Amino acid sequence: MENCLFCKIVEKKIPAQVIYEDNETLAFRDINPVAPVHILLIPKKHLENILELDGALAQAMHAALANIVAQEGLSQGFRVVANTGEHGGQTIYHLHWHILSGRHMGWPPG
Ligand code: AMP
Ligand code: ZN
Repeated sequence: MENCLFCKIVEKKIPAQVIYEDNETLAFRDINPVAPVHILLIPKKHLENILELDGALAQAMHAALANIVAQEGLSQGFRVVANTGEHGGQTIYHLHWHILSGRHMGWPPG
């Protein structure tokens, strides 16, 4: 999709620190990390948010997540966040899962 930052990262028009890629998904380091490990996992296809995710792509996202957790050695635990819409704090409207790790995560979120 035009003027979508994450589509531009998928198309390699904007650089990113890519740590994982498969046919359906791409993962790269967040430019403004809020934890020692802060990875964004996205579908290559432009979807606005998690409600647009269908079963097949959800499966691909889940498989990518498992691969990333193993690859990055996140066995001590991690958090997956999909900010959705205004109240959810979403700022980029191309579906992304934040994968946060490397420190204890507080609860509740702010
Ligand atoms: P959200 O607020 O959930 O929509 O998250 C968007 C995330 O994208 C934020 O954590 C930003 O720091 C991150 N971000 C914005 N631009 C880039 C970029 N060019 N490369 C990597 N991460 C980015
Ligand atoms: Zn997009």
